[in-house]
Amino acid sequence: GPQVGIDQGITVALALSDATMREHGPWLTSGQREHLRRLEKKSARQRRTRPPGRLTSKRLARTYNQIAKARATAKRRAVDWQHQTTTELADTFSVIKVEDLKIKNMVRSARGTIENPGRNVAHKAGLNRSIAGEAWDRTVTLLEYKTRDRGGQVVKVPAPGTSQTCHQCGHRDAANRDKTRFACLNPDCGWVGHADTNAAININNADGTPVSGRGDLGATRSAKRQPPRAA
Ligand SMILES: [Zn+2]
Repeated sequence: GPQVGIDQGITVALALSDATMREHGPWLTSGQREHLRRLEKKSARQRRTRPPGRLTSKRLARTYNQIAKARATAKRRAVDWQHQTTTELADTFSVIKVEDLKIKNMVRSARGTIENPGRNVAHKAGLNRSIAGEAWDRTVTLLEYKTRDRGGQVVKVPAPGTSQTCHQCGHRDAANRDKTRFACLNPDCGWVGHADTNAAININNADGTPVSGRGDLGATRSAKRQPPRAA
């Protein structure tokens, strides 16, 4: 099968080096998100009014359970989507190259810096951010064992600057990219396209290390279902 590079975008879930995208809608309906928001406010209020030194009240514990249930619904939908998507990718491609990045880098890129504010920061807030933070690692784990089952492999590439470098001419400049649009500033090149597609092509072109499938989904099952208790 063919080879592909995949970039985890900020505004799209997955961008492929063949210029296609794999996207999804929100994990919760607007009604469910509002319900969750109210529960979170309620738990904050219940924590505040709890007498000092007391253990978690039954009312607060019940609210935590309701919050955990809503988050579990969102997570279940995210995992379902990831299973479907990674199966399709593993069926289609025999070599899948991904950027070897750590979750904290991703969250930082969502937040951005003063020079380079993150894209779609509000979208990444709260629940979405926590799901997105877990999501990449899980996507890679799923890809590893699904490609291995089919005789393919995942290759992790250390790829600094993939989002700033033009895949066509190699010109690297942070100003090449404006949010989701990449427009190469090299006058002899001038490639224009989706920034995440450009990054995915760079990943596809980079040298990397094949990783063997971990073949174990234990890590994806250990999600924290309870909000942390107040000290
Ligand atoms: Zn260029």
